[in-house]
Amino acid sequence: MSTVVSPELAERVREAGAFDAEACMNCGVCTATCPLGLDVLPRRVFRYVMLGLEDRVRDESETVYSCLLCRLCEESCPAGVHIAENVRTLRRHLNRSLYGLEV
Ligand code: SF4
Ligand code: SF4
Repeated sequence: MSTVVSPELAERVREAGAFDAEACMNCGVCTATCPLGLDVLPRRVFRYVMLGLEDRVRDESETVYSCLLCRLCEESCPAGVHIAENVRTLRRHLNRSLYGLEV
């Protein structure tokens, strides 16, 4: 299966709100503190956005919607990434791109 790269994906996601994933260092501290152990958020899904891998973001949509938005991960993030706000933005983007919703 070929992978489609959309360089403008991060720009399109930001049309749905704030998204500051470029500061992520992929250190894994957020995964260690997440009560759900969401190892793909933000380390993998946010990176997919920055790399323009929209199909992979869509494949992980269930994870994006399962986040509790509790912000425990943010409290220990050494890069100060606004993880919960990024997740909200991604949800709005997926609501539009997958389901045609404007919410
Ligand atoms: S703790 Fe912050 S910098 Fe580290 S992987 Fe998570 S979001 Fe990225
Ligand atoms: S905001 Fe989401 S990713 Fe962060 S700790 Fe809570 S459930 Fe996990």
